[in-house]
Amino acid sequence: MAVSQRPERVFSFELFPPKTAEGMERLKAQATALQRVGPRYFSVTYGAGGSTRERTFATVDWLRSQGIGPAPHLSCIGSQRQEIREILARYREQGIRRLVALRGDLPSGMGLGDPGELRYANELVAFIRAESGDHFHIEVAAYPEFHPQARSATADLQHFQRKVQAGADAAITQYLYNADAYFAFLEDCGRLGIGVPIVPGIMPITNYTQLARFSDSCGAEIPRWIRRRLEVHQDDLAAIRDFGHEVVTGLCRRLLDGGAPGLHFYTMNQAAPTLRIWEALGLSAGRKD
Ligand SMILES: Cc1cc2nc3c(=O)[nH]c(=O)nc-3n(C[C@H](O)[C@H](O)[C@H](O)COP(=O)(O)OP(=O)(O)OC[C@H]3O[C@@H](n4cnc5c(N)ncnc54)[C@H](O)[C@@H]3O)c2cc1C
Repeated sequence: MAVSQRPERVFSFELFPPKTAEGMERLKAQATALQRVGPRYFSVTYGAGGSTRERTFATVDWLRSQGIGPAPHLSCIGSQRQEIREILARYREQGIRRLVALRGDLPSGMGLGDPGELRYANELVAFIRAESGDHFHIEVAAYPEFHPQARSATADLQHFQRKVQAGADAAITQYLYNADAYFAFLEDCGRLGIGVPIVPGIMPITNYTQLARFSDSCGAEIPRWIRRRLEVHQDDLAAIRDFGHEVVTGLCRRLLDGGAPGLHFYTMNQAAPTLRIWEALGLSAGRKD
């Protein structure tokens, strides 16, 4: 029997905890549709400073009740060690084995006051390892186009390396539309001896104005040719979705053909755009590789 040398690729979907009961009902329907194609896991975001704590728990609990393996995000800025310790204990008791560990960005209105006891994600990763040993598989964030607050590209890469040295098992990138930035980042990581899988983050394009605003703040570049074409479509959402679908499907193909160890979809709690890309890529139901 032939044995494949390539490690199994990991496909995952990200959800955010809804603010309202209606939003939660929508999330349930969307997550149920997404679950049918058999992703490895669903991750659930966590607002820095604990701003979504109870809603993140509720979303994680619902996923568990459906037999879906969740990977909660946990961000440390604005939090105390004891609070994080309690969250880790809760997840351990629930049998959760995967976390996405982040510094986070304090929501506007929470001020810059107290950064909390853990200021950067590498400190959070080290704390999780100290508290829980190897219980959790830890994912961290990576920035092939560099984090907007980074002093320099070199410093950002060194900070990423510190997260891996602190015990991260794998990384998920900020979303990007430029495959070359991802491959250049992998090369940089290779030179530094960083060997963990780095899964590219994929943001389906469904709305130009929102995407442009968000990308400016998180440092994700929308290449000029894509911006200009999206601008042509203005408020024609169907045209934006069709063009976005072609662009993002092409990007995913390039990333996978170039050796990306999977894809992490920022679904924005909408199943259809992600499933359309999934089908175009020929990733059939229940298939993880
Ligand atoms: C996959 C993914 C999921 C995300 N999920 C969430 C979420 O659920 N909730 C949320 O609030 N946000 C989330 N974010 C956003 C993220 O929290 C922000 O991008 C945040 O600004 C940085 O978080 P980080 O974990 O990458 O921080 P860090 O790795 O700590 O880096 C933050 C900045 O500080 C610099 N830095 C790192 N260490 C040091 C140091 N020791 N000294 C000086 N500078 C340092 C880095 O170069 C970088 O500029 C997510 C991002 C990604 C890519």
